[in-house]
Amino acid sequence: MRKALILYTFIFICKTTIANEDYVKYVNPLIGTDTSFELSNGNTYPAIARPWGMNFWTPQTGKMGDGWVYTYKSDQIIGFKQTHQPSPWINDYAAFSLMPSIGKLSVLEDERKLKFDHENEKAEPHFYSVILHEINTKVEFTVTERSSFFKFNFPKNENSNVIIDAFFKNSEIKIFPNENKIIGIARNNSGGVPENFANYFVIKFNTPFKKSGVWDGKGNIMSKKELVGEHVGAYVTFDTTNDVVVEAKVSSSFISHEQAWVNLNRELPDDKKFDEILSEGRRSWNNELSKIKVETDNTTKGLSDKIKFYSCFYRTILFPRQFHEYNKQGKQIHYSPYNGKILDGPLYTDNGFWDTFRAVFPFYTILYPEKLSEIIQGIMVNPYKESGWLPEWSSPGHRDCMIGSNSASIIAEAFLKGIKNFDIDIAYEGIINSSENEGPLSSVGRKGAFEYNNLGYIPFDSSINENVARTLEYAYNDFSIWKLAVELGRPKNEINLFKNRANNYKNVFDSSTNFMRGKLKNGDFQSPFIADAWGGAFTEGSSWHYTWSVLHDPQGLINLMGGRKDFVKKLDKVFTSEPTSDFTYYGFKIHEILEMELLNMGQYAHGNQPIQHAIYFYNYAQQPWKTQQKIRYVLDNLYGAEADGYCGDEDNGQTSAWFLFSSLGFYPVAPVTMEYVIGSPLFNYVEISLPNGKKFIIDSAENSNENIYIDNVKLNKKYYTKNWLHHNDITNGGRIMFNMKNKPNLNWGSSKSSVPYSMSNE
Ligand code: CA
Repeated sequence: MRKALILYTFIFICKTTIANEDYVKYVNPLIGTDTSFELSNGNTYPAIARPWGMNFWTPQTGKMGDGWVYTYKSDQIIGFKQTHQPSPWINDYAAFSLMPSIGKLSVLEDERKLKFDHENEKAEPHFYSVILHEINTKVEFTVTERSSFFKFNFPKNENSNVIIDAFFKNSEIKIFPNENKIIGIARNNSGGVPENFANYFVIKFNTPFKKSGVWDGKGNIMSKKELVGEHVGAYVTFDTTNDVVVEAKVSSSFISHEQAWVNLNRELPDDKKFDEILSEGRRSWNNELSKIKVETDNTTKGLSDKIKFYSCFYRTILFPRQFHEYNKQGKQIHYSPYNGKILDGPLYTDNGFWDTFRAVFPFYTILYPEKLSEIIQGIMVNPYKESGWLPEWSSPGHRDCMIGSNSASIIAEAFLKGIKNFDIDIAYEGIINSSENEGPLSSVGRKGAFEYNNLGYIPFDSSINENVARTLEYAYNDFSIWKLAVELGRPKNEINLFKNRANNYKNVFDSSTNFMRGKLKNGDFQSPFIADAWGGAFTEGSSWHYTWSVLHDPQGLINLMGGRKDFVKKLDKVFTSEPTSDFTYYGFKIHEILEMELLNMGQYAHGNQPIQHAIYFYNYAQQPWKTQQKIRYVLDNLYGAEADGYCGDEDNGQTSAWFLFSSLGFYPVAPVTMEYVIGSPLFNYVEISLPNGKKFIIDSAENSNENIYIDNVKLNKKYYTKNWLHHNDITNGGRIMFNMKNKPNLNWGSSKSSVPYSMSNE
């Protein structure tokens, strides 16, 4: 009896669970690195890190200050750099680097660089190794949340060096030769920091120094043991004639050197060997990646889809990074990049909400509700307390980049989904503050708040640029505030204020052209109107892209356009028009325009965020098969498993999270509505392990490259005809079965009662 039960249980487990695989092997951190200023295929670098780690490490091929820190086509490495860069456009801060050499010392970036090739390079999320063949040296490193562990496999030589560069904009270095230690301070930054900002780094070698000294930014090498200046560094020479492998444990702190040693000893204690940290790192990534198990067939495409999926997963949980540390007593503390003080609690940073509110944060609401509470406390509440403003782009403090007040969407979405372990009263105060005021930078608060709140739109003939884009985003943000205010039981007049403002998108819609269009103070539309003009009234896009920025009320947009027929005609035109553009506003063809031209999808510009949700708008117009066809085209053609794998900036997980959601078969068009609009699942079988212990299974057995259309759907064994899912459908666990065919089923999900939420239908 007992035996039989065990056997039965065993079979049951085998049938319902996919075996635990190593998912790290599917992650390619080099995807998106074949990139340049002129054309972005991702604008990523291989971030060697732990999930949300405070410090990332990367091989460096571009000089410090050049945002393109590692580019695939480069053949020389300058160093191995601790980096905090979220994007080349925001650039780096608090960086320093290590670089080996043999014999004569060459310390400056241009002089110390050495050749490498991709055949002798291995990049994994938590590990990087490369052979620098000119000096016959293999460099390997693995990382923890704040520290890194280097192995320099030098050849037999009397003078094997490691060059330490604390970089420009003021740095300090100090050598303790008897203790095999070097400490330093890197103050480099690209803005968004107080006066006292510093990265205190510490390095502990396993091998005695034969020689050591310091150098300055002019390349002067000195034997003294300490130097402070605009740009300083150090060198150490080892005798490696006895085949010794030089190991270095490296850590840092934004608080003090003392705290940096705490970080180092906590994460890389003396008894931990390189291989132990290496397998810890792999485990930490597998813990996350195994939360979604996808099955594919063994074809080349199947493997490539898996690489795309897990590489996108890796990118989606790198940012926002933790900026807090744990003191000797294990208490969470942080240096505030807002006021320069050392304070209690979490701090997260390196994120632009304009990008990530769309899909990264919704992804966290499913897989990481607990973590998300801490992130919101650390990236919204504490920054508001420390600076008086909710961030919109932080790196590490407020940065002046992009538009909108999308922090409202992130906070409201989380709270409405029951993720409440953060200080909502302060967050709400911050939201209201942003809705009423211009901030100290154009990206915080709401630029044009006065005009918007009084007129219901920001006039084209005001001093405020990108006025239509701002109006549209504020309207969705106000929708988010409305929903949150209801949930919080705020006064009726406050609730109604935001409910009304959520309609403001209508004020910039021109029914004579069926486009969103700049509007003058006197109520006339701006003239002449050029639909494909980028910039001006819009942000990194044209009216072709922003006309669809009505996330919370597609039905309202359908009504404005004169009904479903005209709406669909317009939406079809996005994909069938020539990818023309007028870029007078910028004076040159910005990379986003070039990326659109290369897609072969008309005016659809998947390489940038404003229109990334629009394919899903066919569902609202009762033609979900068009969504299905186009989603699969994007998944198959606009994402790749190679170094040129993105069709524009990856943007801190946003373009990756789009792939994650869309390949699962649904996407959060308007996060605050708690709905996910159904597209076309890419995989035959997916198992999502939810944090509440339940599983959500996505089963689409007949799915193939041809069978991309949904014939029918069963949710928990019942036929399901809505073309969207509610958040609770997923988090309650269960099974959704997609029956896929090679021809559209015009009857599935196409009735009036099938469509997702729109404010106008409420
Ligand atoms: Ca972008």
